[in-house]
Amino acid sequence: MLSHSSFITTFTLLYKCRNQSNMKDSKKVTDVNEYGEFGLIDLLTKPFKSKLKSTFKGVGDDSGIIKNAKDYTAITTDFLIEGIHFDVIYTPMKHLGYKAVVVNLSDIYAMNIIPSHITVSIAISSKYSVEALEEFYEGIKAACDMYHVDLIGGDTTSHLKGMAICVTAVGSTQDQNSITYRSGARQGDILCVTGNLGAAYLGLQILEREKHLYLSDDKIKPELSKYTYLIERQLKPEANKAAVEYFHKIGLVPTSMIDISDGLSSDLMHICSQSSVGAYIEETKVPIIEEAKSLAIEFNMNPITCALNGGEDYELLFTIDPMDIEKIKFMPDVHIIGEIVSASDKVTLHSSGGAIHPLQAQGWNHF
Ligand code: ADP
Ligand code: MG
Repeated sequence: MLSHSSFITTFTLLYKCRNQSNMKDSKKVTDVNEYGEFGLIDLLTKPFKSKLKSTFKGVGDDSGIIKNAKDYTAITTDFLIEGIHFDVIYTPMKHLGYKAVVVNLSDIYAMNIIPSHITVSIAISSKYSVEALEEFYEGIKAACDMYHVDLIGGDTTSHLKGMAICVTAVGSTQDQNSITYRSGARQGDILCVTGNLGAAYLGLQILEREKHLYLSDDKIKPELSKYTYLIERQLKPEANKAAVEYFHKIGLVPTSMIDISDGLSSDLMHICSQSSVGAYIEETKVPIIEEAKSLAIEFNMNPITCALNGGEDYELLFTIDPMDIEKIKFMPDVHIIGEIVSASDKVTLHSSGGAIHPLQAQGWNHF
């Protein structure tokens, strides 16, 4: 709870930030945009050093890990905010509930752990009817059934204008050596990705285009039927349960892993920076389905740009020791897209024409 005096300080800091140009005061006030999401997280969490033996993995990966007795428990949480992460004009409530769960489960799978439980907290304004919320919870239930997880709690509160959803997911393993981190990639490792990339981003472009047409003339009926797959990838994504079950079945532990929420470039950067390595991706190996390619071209976009920077695919990006290559030979829907190299060789894209481009993290900027 903030004390009265700290409330005044908080208010002053906010106020100063908005009126910085008028400030004569010498105390520097920094706009959050100067840091970006990841810089801000680093800045705010740096002072926190783990005090407890049970803190096995702290801030910085897809999930934190707590060790208790024999169990290693992964825990992760993610917000979905109306107007930032979803638009109620084109998001069915049931899909929204499903997605809110899935994006969290994906972060547990990214640790090579099977999720088991979730909590769901919602802040809602009175524009949401009971029926709408029941539909939202139908989506939550569908995800719980699909991924075999139990809902064990949450919180419900009011919101002035819209809706904010915060899901927390947990999952446990007893095998410490099977946990995968962003930091385990080594030079010479093979870089792999599951499924296909860019589809969710292109699904969003269609939804946005049809929304604007509809808002300009409500007699125009949104034309969505041609793009069902792409739209579903945006509105009702899946976490890659099958890939993690496959790893467990064949006893393969990737050397590093992350789920692709911000885009291939950005998420590969996380692996590279945390593993102190570089990497290259071969452009021709990046999996993009035809439907996504042709829509990208329709939008005057380069398909590879959508795959690299689109985000929200929730596929798994992982590295394996070259000795394990035989083990993924029969893994369904997995693609070898590149290799881990030394940090001095940076993170690059080898284009089909032979050019080498430096890769940049261009994931979503939440601010
Ligand atoms: P992901 O995309 O996998 O959900 P994020 O990029 O959101 O991961 O977060 C990166 C890391 O920073 C994670 O370990 C997350 O738990 C941590 N993190 C994010 N926001 C905060 C915060 N406000 N306070 C503490 N840790 C945070
Ligand atoms: Mg993640």
